[in-house]
Amino acid sequence: MSSHEKPCRACMDFRTWAKRQKEVYDSEKGTHKIQDQTLIAKGNGNGAREDCPLDKDELGSKTWAFLHTMAAYYPDKPSKEQKADMNNFFHTFSKFYPCNICAEDLQKQLKQTPPETGSQDKLSQWLCRVHNGVNKKLGKPEFDCKLVNQRWKDGWMDGSCD
Ligand SMILES: Cc1cc2nc3c(=O)[nH]c(=O)nc-3n(C[C@H](O)[C@H](O)[C@H](O)COP(=O)(O)OP(=O)(O)OC[C@H]3O[C@@H](n4cnc5c(N)ncnc54)[C@H](O)[C@@H]3O)c2cc1C
Repeated sequence: MSSHEKPCRACMDFRTWAKRQKEVYDSEKGTHKIQDQTLIAKGNGNGAREDCPLDKDELGSKTWAFLHTMAAYYPDKPSKEQKADMNNFFHTFSKFYPCNICAEDLQKQLKQTPPETGSQDKLSQWLCRVHNGVNKKLGKPEFDCKLVNQRWKDGWMDGSCD
């Protein structure tokens, strides 16, 4: 990215984005410097407001919630057309996901392990493994895929979501 290019907020965490914004602003304005506090003081996210554009991590967790929920409600016995549509959905999604590094990574993943669209269980398990691939890359703990329907469809066995 050149120093004049507007940083992509959905491609990085808020702090990195704020730092890049400042660099762009400084390079455009020359001597006019914004104080670090102006941008960084917002601290661990988007400040007090709730209605700000998403950064990479907010977009990520909201998107995973949608994808896992969609997989949870996929038919147990999908038609040929539903299988093809779901397969196309993931391929198209991977081209337009706004975090470009994430999207490129997903496109590679899809080539290696295409969506398993044979049933709800197969799709949810496949998506769980894809998500775990990202977790692993980011140094996060892997999720136990046996629990995926409790997490995204039925609620926990102990009744804590009832
Ligand atoms: C398709 C995609 C690709 C991404 N690629 C990248 C990338 O390359 N680099 C990057 O920095 N960020 C990437 N992200 C963002 C990243 O995965 C996280 O969303 C982000 O770091 C926020 O993490 P989080 O801790 O809020 O939990 P998230 O990983 O967003 O998870 C949200 C919730 O899902 C549940 N969960 C966790 N793992 C699984 C699983 N395997 N199966 C089912 N449920 C699970 C947990 O309850 C968790 O709280 C990507 C996001 C998406 C949607």
